[in-house]
Amino acid sequence: MTNTSELHDLTVAQLAIRLREREVSAVETAQHFLARAKTHASLGAFLDINEEVTLTQARAADARLAKGTANALEGIPVAHKDIFVTRDFVSTAGSRMLAGYRSPFDATVVAKLAEQGVVTLGKLNCDEFAMGSANENSAFGNVKNPWNLTCTPGGSSGGSAAAVAARLAPAATGTDTGGSIRQPASFCGITGIKPTYGRASRYGMVAFASSLDQAGPMARSAQDCALLLSAMCGPDLDRDSTSLDVPAEDFSLRLNDSIKGLRIGVPLEWWGSGVQTEWFPEMPAQRSEGVDISVQLAIESALKEYEKLGAKLVPISLPRTELSIPVYYIIAPAEASSNLSRFDGVKFGHRAQQYTDLTDMYKKTRAEGFGDEVKRRIMIGAYVLSHGYYDAYYLQAQKIRRMIADDFQQAFKQCDVIAGPVAPTVAWKLGEKSDDPVANYLADIFTLPASLAGLPGMSVPAGFGEGGMPVGLQLIGNYFSEAKLLNMAHRLQQATDFHSRKPPTLAEGL
Ligand code: GLN
Repeated sequence: MTNTSELHDLTVAQLAIRLREREVSAVETAQHFLARAKTHASLGAFLDINEEVTLTQARAADARLAKGTANALEGIPVAHKDIFVTRDFVSTAGSRMLAGYRSPFDATVVAKLAEQGVVTLGKLNCDEFAMGSANENSAFGNVKNPWNLTCTPGGSSGGSAAAVAARLAPAATGTDTGGSIRQPASFCGITGIKPTYGRASRYGMVAFASSLDQAGPMARSAQDCALLLSAMCGPDLDRDSTSLDVPAEDFSLRLNDSIKGLRIGVPLEWWGSGVQTEWFPEMPAQRSEGVDISVQLAIESALKEYEKLGAKLVPISLPRTELSIPVYYIIAPAEASSNLSRFDGVKFGHRAQQYTDLTDMYKKTRAEGFGDEVKRRIMIGAYVLSHGYYDAYYLQAQKIRRMIADDFQQAFKQCDVIAGPVAPTVAWKLGEKSDDPVANYLADIFTLPASLAGLPGMSVPAGFGEGGMPVGLQLIGNYFSEAKLLNMAHRLQQATDFHSRKPPTLAEGL
């Protein structure tokens, strides 16, 4: 019999075995995590919990487990980023505009996980409409980083990362438009993967920037991410016009493959002088300012582990890395300004109480419902799409986006996978950048390029930096190379224990 007090220390893979062996029931598991969510409510991770719904799902899972008809993830509790709409839980996208909103349907990703037996624990806090890097743009309060309660968990999937790191859920869903799975995973010391654009359906994911938005799992290990990602991906052609007609894959199959001879590309533009002089003395000196030395050291030691495992480091160039910031912050707001036009006080959510006519109703509804960052992006988006500025900004950004994608294809002629930091620093203090949107934007420099190119990317715990805060290693592969990324991450996790360390704020037994 499994001691239920230890359930939250199990990975998804371990928990799945306990459930299948009937050592613990899905109901006991759900009750344990629901109780933890309550005890740790001050983290700010959960926005909605509905014990009755969760326990009903758990009872159904137990019935299937008893009958021997269990699915792959039967009885595993998962919490969803509140950007996925759900029938049985409130869906807010972190916005006052959707406070209390109930969707008539489940997002495809939510439904697919449920089909595999997942039990939904609730909805997780996030930046409003997934716009942000610190979870401070949520209308429902910020989330604290379990490694240091005065620090941000990252964003926009900050609630997901904090919940998994604090063991309030064995795994969570997230979405990544410009880094929102990878950066919070890095800041909270967990593992997260964003698949190739189009592999996971966007149906029922509240749209931010449709050409970039992509769903993915966040969990403690690469093995767990592989289990979840296998259930989340697959074509949804009737409901998402950008869904790819590529069959779902079992991402667990190649986890243990050898990585001997694998060529890991190290983008010199992303690097400090340290790695260069040691590994590539012949290369010209590169700019390195901006990457915190403690982050650099953790990434370098991860690369050394890979060398020990037989991989080979090769220098590559991603010359337009810096341009990815202006390009992303033109394209994403442009798409957002169009997507968010649907929030007009008529179709969904909030409507102003008092108004004189229709135009006044629109104005007041949107002024009241949206937060500052969302308004800023709507204005930027409307501006870059307007007649006279479209060519100068939007079209130009689209051209450079294509060049950024081409740069990756050049790089993949020389290497199999690209490795680098996820973010230039560890998690910063809550409030430190909240009045400075540009400082937030600049911190996205290493996650934006893969997003713009639609490539899969992941964050793998690689050690600890300044203040003992977690550092994530970013792995980027070519289209459809998720299995290779997960394989690389798994091999690192067999050689290191960073992914299984516990935040010090989780006092003994909590
Ligand atoms: N930090 C980026 C932004 O604010 C990315 C957000 C995301 O990936 N959802 O847009």
